[in-house]
Amino acid sequence: MRMIYLLLAAFLFIGCMGTAPVTGREQVLLMSPSEEKALGDSSYKDFLSKAKISTDKAQTARIKNIGNKIAIAAQRKDFDWEFNLVEDAQVNAFCLPGGKVVVYTGILDLAKNDDQLATVMSHEIAHALARHGAERMSHQQISEGVQTLGNILVGATAPEYTNAFNMAYGYGTQLGVMLPYSRSHEYEADEIGVHLMQKAGYNIHEAVNFWENMKSKKGTAKIEFFSTHPTDEHRIQRISEIVKKLEKK
Ligand SMILES: [Zn+2]
Repeated sequence: MRMIYLLLAAFLFIGCMGTAPVTGREQVLLMSPSEEKALGDSSYKDFLSKAKISTDKAQTARIKNIGNKIAIAAQRKDFDWEFNLVEDAQVNAFCLPGGKVVVYTGILDLAKNDDQLATVMSHEIAHALARHGAERMSHQQISEGVQTLGNILVGATAPEYTNAFNMAYGYGTQLGVMLPYSRSHEYEADEIGVHLMQKAGYNIHEAVNFWENMKSKKGTAKIEFFSTHPTDEHRIQRISEIVKKLEKK
C-alpha cells in the first residue's frame, strides 16, 4: 500500500499544479492548456456537424451579445470565443475548453431575462476558465495509474485478490473522489460565474432567481442541465451568500 501512496505522490509532483481563478484553489493538471483546447476544438467540430444551428437571428444575436460581454470580463486572450444557439428542446448549455459556447433553445424559456441567460453562460464559461474538464481527466489518469500499480502489486503477491481489489477500488474511487469533485466543481463554477456576471455588468440577483426557476422545474422532462446541476437549497443559499458579499464591495 505504501508504494501506491509513493507513486501517487510522484504523480502529483510530476503533474503541473494550477490555481483556479477567483477561488484560488490549487489544482493538479496533467494536461497543458493547448492540449485541452485541441480536445475542446475537435469536440466542438464534432458537435456542430450534428447540431441544428438556430435560424432565429434575434435570439442568436442576443446569445452572442451576452457571450461577448462575459468574454471581455473573462480576460482570456488565449481563448477563441464562439457562441452558438442550437435548436434543441433540452434545457442545456456548455462551454468547451478554449471558449466554444453552445446554448440550447430549450434554456430560453427557463432563463427569464438577459441576466438569467448570463447566469447560465457565465456558469458554463467558469467551468472552462477553471479548467474543470482537464482536472477531471487528470484525476482519472491518476486513479487509473494507481489502479494499474495496485493490480501489479496485488497480482504479484496474491492473485486471488485481484478482483476484490478492483471492485473495492472502483467503488471507493467513484464515491470518494468523483462525487465530491464534481460537486465542488459546480460550486466553484457558481462562484466564478457570479463574479463574471457582475464584471460583465449583469444583475447578479438574477443568478438566485435563475436557480430558483431551475428548482421549481424539477421533475419536468428534457431538463438535461438539471441532471448535471442538482439544485438544492444549499446551492441557492451559497449563491445568495456570494451575491451578498459582492454587493458589499
Ligand atoms: Zn456546472
